[in-house]
Amino acid sequence: MDNPQLLDNHGRELTYLRLAVTDRCNLRCTYCMPAEGINYMPERELLSWEEMFRLTRILHEMGIKKVRITGGEPFVRNGLLDFLTNLAGLKDLEICLTTNGVFIGEYIEALKKLGVRHINLSLDSLDWDRFHQITRRDDFAKVYANLISLIDAGFQVKINAVVMQGKNEEDIIALTEFAREHPVSVRFIEEMPFNGSGLVEEKLFWDHARILERIRSQFPDLKARPFLFGETANTYDIPGFKGNVGVIAAFTRTFCGSCNRIRLTAKGQVKTCLYDDGVFDMKPYLRSEVSDEEVKAQFLKLFKSRPLDGFEAENKRKGVITESMTTIGG
Ligand code: SAM
Repeated sequence: MDNPQLLDNHGRELTYLRLAVTDRCNLRCTYCMPAEGINYMPERELLSWEEMFRLTRILHEMGIKKVRITGGEPFVRNGLLDFLTNLAGLKDLEICLTTNGVFIGEYIEALKKLGVRHINLSLDSLDWDRFHQITRRDDFAKVYANLISLIDAGFQVKINAVVMQGKNEEDIIALTEFAREHPVSVRFIEEMPFNGSGLVEEKLFWDHARILERIRSQFPDLKARPFLFGETANTYDIPGFKGNVGVIAAFTRTFCGSCNRIRLTAKGQVKTCLYDDGVFDMKPYLRSEVSDEEVKAQFLKLFKSRPLDGFEAENKRKGVITESMTTIGG
């Protein structure tokens, strides 16, 4: 069993690791956490960079082809660039980043040199005031400037926007318009209950169907692309646009059947589904001096009892969802 391939009990191949490298964030998005933030973990409670590299290397040996660095905000943890440099040494591993875009400006050249090509930038509004209301921070100008710099530098940029009733519905059209002139993929995401409070709306108003309806009302010529295995977005082209738009049914969970993802939280919890509450604590396990072979066997075991979809995972949880997305990474 040198390099066993990672398959789950439903025959789905795991090829994509989402790695949250910190639980800290410089923004305080209302849908993600309370104004005062969450109880952040002290650094020793997080996986170290060495531990994260080891796990990524092991999973790469097991068939992981793509790693997404997320958080929290990846750029707030010291040492990110050294870590990315080490990852870049793993052959044919695609390195992607998800960021709020506030600090990325000064790293653009370095990221390019490392071969990073794909950046997901979270931006829920193109309006200064709405951005401020949502993020509780005055960083719109920086994020917008960095977004343009990333596009100009040739990165493949996806803009992720959570759609919320009464907060940014105007931005559905404004962000779609942004894709007319810029070669980006704008993806609208259904709001999920990972807001750190445990409080959720009874019914989601802006579900994927309603979001699409709004886009279509303005752009009736939009054309669906074929849905690709492992994707979460339904993507649409609009004639004359440099970019495209997508809708991610993150709450309605229409895409679980083709899920190819492993999640590792900053604390080292393995998640076989976004909606489970962590199926294994890797940190003490790694610190008990296990061999690579044992870690591989552990991953194989965990994915042999993986829920079929996010609804099954949610039903199996010990309690309701109270955690913040900043501890998971999206
Ligand atoms: N700091 C980085 C960023 O802002 O992209 C990475 C971490 S952030 C938790 C990852 C993604 O999760 C962001 O696109 C954010 O909008 C999304 N997110 C956070 N809370 C969410 C929620 N309750 N529902 C839907 N998406 C959420």
